[in-house]
Formats: sequence, C-alpha cells, structure tokens
Amino acid sequence: MGLVTMKFGGTSVADADKIKNVAGRIAEAKRRGDDVVAVVSARGATTDELEALAHEVSDRPDPREMDMLLSSGERISCALMAMALHDLGVSARSFTGSQAGIVTDGAHTRAKIVEVKADRLREAIADDHIVMVAGFQGVSGDRDVTTLGRGGSDTSAVALATALDADVCEIYTDVTGVFTADPRVEPRAVKLPRISHGEMLEMASMGSRVLALRAVEFARRYDVPLHVRSSFAPEEGTWITKETPDMEDAIVSGIAHKSDEAKVTISGVEDQPGIAATIMTALGDASVNVDTIIQNVGGGGVADMSFTVPLNELPAALEAVEGVEGLGYRELTSDDQIGKVTLVGAGMRSNPGVAATMFRTLAAEGINIQMIDTSTIRITVVIDRREVERAVRALHEAFGLAGEAARRADV
Ligand code: ADP
Ligand code: ASP
Ligand code: MG
Repeated sequence: MGLVTMKFGGTSVADADKIKNVAGRIAEAKRRGDDVVAVVSARGATTDELEALAHEVSDRPDPREMDMLLSSGERISCALMAMALHDLGVSARSFTGSQAGIVTDGAHTRAKIVEVKADRLREAIADDHIVMVAGFQGVSGDRDVTTLGRGGSDTSAVALATALDADVCEIYTDVTGVFTADPRVEPRAVKLPRISHGEMLEMASMGSRVLALRAVEFARRYDVPLHVRSSFAPEEGTWITKETPDMEDAIVSGIAHKSDEAKVTISGVEDQPGIAATIMTALGDASVNVDTIIQNVGGGGVADMSFTVPLNELPAALEAVEGVEGLGYRELTSDDQIGKVTLVGAGMRSNPGVAATMFRTLAAEGINIQMIDTSTIRITVVIDRREVERAVRALHEAFGLAGEAARRADV
C-alpha cells in the first residue's frame, strides 16, 4: 500500500457529471488499496470569471482581497468532490489550503510555498479518509489567505506529494500527457512518453501551461515522480523524469509558444555602466516580470534596449521606465502584438545547427524574427503574435516531431 497524490484541473471538474467522473477515479484509487490525497482546481473558467468580477468593481483590485476571492473557486470544487465521494460510499474530508497547512510567503496573487505542515492531513489519512485539498492556495505567516499564481494547483499537488512522501504525483488534465506542441495549435502533435525535468522547465516557462513552472521545479528539487495524464481516458500519460543519456538523442523534444507578450524599446539611451541596472531595478520594484532583454551598442555614446514583458504588465512597465528620474533617452516605444516560439531539446547541447534550421524554416514562411534568446537546451524567437501558430506548425514539421514520440517509446 502506498500514497498517491492526484490533481484534477479546471476542465476535469467543470460540471456535475465531470465531478462525478473524477470522484469515480479517486474512489477507484482508494479501493485499489492506496491512501489518496487529491487536489482540485476551480471549475471550468471560474478563476477567469472571478478575476473579471473583481475588475468590474475596482480598477486596481487589492491583492489581499483578490486572494480571498480567487481562492473561493477551489474551495467550491473541493467540497463538491467530497460530497460526490460520500455518495460513492467512501469517506472523504475536504480542506482549504490553509487547513492543509500550506504556508506561503506574503506575496498576494503569486505567493511561494515556504512550508507544508501536513499533520492534520496525516491524521485524516490515518483515519482512512480520502483527503481532498483545495488547490492554488495557502496561508501566509500573517495568517492571510494567499494564492500561488495561475496554474498553481499543480504546485499545491507537488508540494503535498513532497511533504507526505507520496509514491507518485499524478496530474490529471484534459489532454493525455505532454505533447510535442500544444495539440490545440498543432493537431499532429504527439504525446511524449517521457520528458526530462530540464526540458519540462523550459517548456513550462516558455508557455506550455500543461504544467506550472513551480510544480516542475519542486518535482525536480525533491525528486517527486510526476505523471501527467488524462482525467477521461485510462491510458498512461507522460512521466517527467531525471535526464537519461538517451534523451540527448532527440535534438528537439517539443515546441512551446506564448501569444500574450509585449515588447518595450528604449532608443538612444545613454551607453554607460549602471543604466541597465537602473532600468531593471525600476521594473523589479514595479513587480514587472521582464523576460528576453537585448541591448545594442550604437554609435555616439548611446544604445538601444528592448525587453519583453507579459502583455498585462505592459502599462506598469511603461510607467516604471517613464518614472526613472534622470534617465536620458530619445524614444520609448512598445509593441503589444508580439509572441514567442521556443524549441526545447536536451540534444541541442551537442548538436550545432538547430538555430540555422529554425531560422531557415521561419524565413521560408516569410516570418520575421524580432529578437532571439537561447539557453543550452532552448532557442526562443520573438515574432509577430499573428504568426505564432503558423510558426509552431512549420517548425513541428521541419524537425519531424510527429515521429519523435514513437522513437522515445522504443528506448
Ligand atoms: P488544467 O485545467 O487541467 O490544469 P490546463 O488548461 O492548465 O489544464 O493545461 C492543459 C492544456 O495545456 C491543454 O488543454 C493544452 O491545450 C495546453 N498545452 C499547451 N502546451 C501543451 C503541450 N506541450 N502538451 C499538452 N498540452 C499542452
Ligand atoms: N484555478 C487556478 C487557475 O485557473 C489554478 C489552477 O487551475 O491551477 O489558474
Ligand atoms: Mg493548469
């Protein structure tokens, strides 16, 4: 007998029938003899709706109150799931993040888990209950309710799996696993049987929302076996594992994309030590998440600096740059029509020429590259948002990714 952590996403619990379906999966795991801790997300688009509601009553909703509001979505599905489980004849207890002992820092709407005090859950498990936990939330040192950022129920599940020393953390969702690209954008994308933590971190940070970035970081740090699979089909999904030498055989494992990005350009900024630091400090103080940064040294003692930010942080980014006292520049411009496409693959470390193939493929499609950013296992290009999906499909074809899953399955 072991302990399994199961997490069900919003689409998996969207209505009463789906909640009953998931209750069936949870009860089945318990009847097989395992102890079960199940984490649920808010139903369907609840979190989006609650966010929209907040903006109906306030232009700048207070972050503490935002967390009180958003955390309610998960609380609803959690209680409903416990009720559905009771009807199946199994005992279940639901807990909020706070009751489950998930302690976070105080950064409202994007809190980080600092500790899990799981005694209460252990007691419930010992009493043979199925433990239901509302995902995406915790409690700060000041005893305020916090939320963990969008997609945060994945992180709740992995953190609980770590604290309870679970045998596996299963992430149940509306696709059958991690695919070579978002199957909604590239219908020929195929499921990967395995992907390394490093590759999955790059995929998650560059837009593949199938797993939240922090959940993957947790799983890597604490060596939690992570299995992404379907809520609706019994088949095996994708295992996120330590990298093995054969994983380098695949030059490209997957393609991630983001369509909600913006670019800020500061032209003719003084070319002096400390200028970049001043700009980035102002952006950091305004809690803007700056991503790709490029600076070109121009002539005449001036340079141009461009960087990308999430689209919804563009107004704050512009305000922060405009607010830097004494910053001399010629022009501050922005483009809210950009997106990013990223190739990820452990094999890039040992295979030069990937960038050339990527750029040639985009050129053949007539797609202009505005910025380029790389790591040892990733190449990212910034392009026009309207061309992102076409770029994903062209690159999927150029790197033969439809055949990749079959090759990995043979390993
Ligand atoms: P959940 O509500 O279960 O957390 P999400 O919507 O957060 O589900 O994540 C699942 C979605 O992630 C899929 O429906 C799919 O469109 C998207 N996705 C993006 N990239 C990938 C990928 N590489 N593999 C699988 N799904 C992906
Ligand atoms: N409900 C939250 C969201 O929509 C958390 C999650 O689903 O993981 O982002
Ligand atoms: Mg999700």
